[in-house]
Amino acid sequence: MQFIEIAGQDNLKQRLVAMVEENRTGHALLFCEAPGCGALPLAIAMASYMLCESRRGGDSCGMCPTCNKTRKLIHPDLHFAMPVNSTKKVPSDKKPVSDHFIGEWREAVINNPYLTEQEWYNTIETENKSGIIGVYEASLILRKLSLQSFSGGPKFMMVWLPEKMNQEAANKLLKLIEEPPADTYILMVSHSPEKIIPTILSRCQIIRIPPIDREQLEGELMEEFDLSGAEAGFWAKLSGGSLSKARELIAGSALQQQMDILLTRLLEGCANRDLAKTIAFWEEVATLRRDDQKIFLEYTLEFLRRALMVAEGLPEIANVPPSGIEQSAFWAQKFKPAFYGRALGIINGAMEDIGRNVNSRYIFADLSNRFFLSL
Ligand SMILES: [Zn+2]
Repeated sequence: MQFIEIAGQDNLKQRLVAMVEENRTGHALLFCEAPGCGALPLAIAMASYMLCESRRGGDSCGMCPTCNKTRKLIHPDLHFAMPVNSTKKVPSDKKPVSDHFIGEWREAVINNPYLTEQEWYNTIETENKSGIIGVYEASLILRKLSLQSFSGGPKFMMVWLPEKMNQEAANKLLKLIEEPPADTYILMVSHSPEKIIPTILSRCQIIRIPPIDREQLEGELMEEFDLSGAEAGFWAKLSGGSLSKARELIAGSALQQQMDILLTRLLEGCANRDLAKTIAFWEEVATLRRDDQKIFLEYTLEFLRRALMVAEGLPEIANVPPSGIEQSAFWAQKFKPAFYGRALGIINGAMEDIGRNVNSRYIFADLSNRFFLSL
């Protein structure tokens, strides 16, 4: 990972480089950020810079044998610890630690260095459990850092989300942070530094990562999502300078648009007695992932709730977004009062069927058929 690959943060990159060049780098650094501003890639770029054999122009070279290893996150002097939990692959009796998931970690961070905590848990499939950095992990960290450096240069331990350390682990690591072995750097990346115990916090050199500069984030989003400047600017502003937040918002809005198109197809197909359109609806919905099918049903429920509020003359409590007012009013006129109750029953039935793993084509063909008869 090179500094040049990271969105924005030009001032901070210069500061980090200057710290290294002037030998002002502490042995325990804490990078703090609101998620998605680039703390993890910056910490990795800094370690890569310190390890690179021919750094130049304020960045690692990206080409030397060392850079080849740091790029793949396989450099033997670059260690990682991150919150984990038991999974199907690593049940609790195996005492899950970062090393069990190092392959997944490398792949996830190389694909997306702006990885969020939830994305990480989804990747390793902790099944809704959040991760911790426990005492076994702390022992491993101590053991790894007590070894000689492989390359004869500095050693790095990256601790992602040290706020996930439990008390026992934190106590164990405190001594290490107070008196690290020679040429050893502990780089921590935190989203909630207030949850780190004060004795550790007070021994760290703190590096605050500001939000990504608006224009630079805009440029990133334009390129990544092929957006116009105005659209990218809208999401950059709404995200508060976080690349992962901006991505989440854009994905959410794309999903909502997709749901809206599907629902309109269903309602128009039924209202206009257009069988072909209705069939096209259920054939498409049946191909979605189960989670998205549930989101579609929830979206439909919310749409009906709003239409009912509008029909009852209460648009002000319907929370209809400005772009949807006309559409809600249009359908509120079309739906007969009895339709709402029937639709609710149909949707709840479909939700239950999804939960019971009934065939998707059957569920949505049935739902379409019932809507067709009810609307
Ligand atoms: Zn290099």
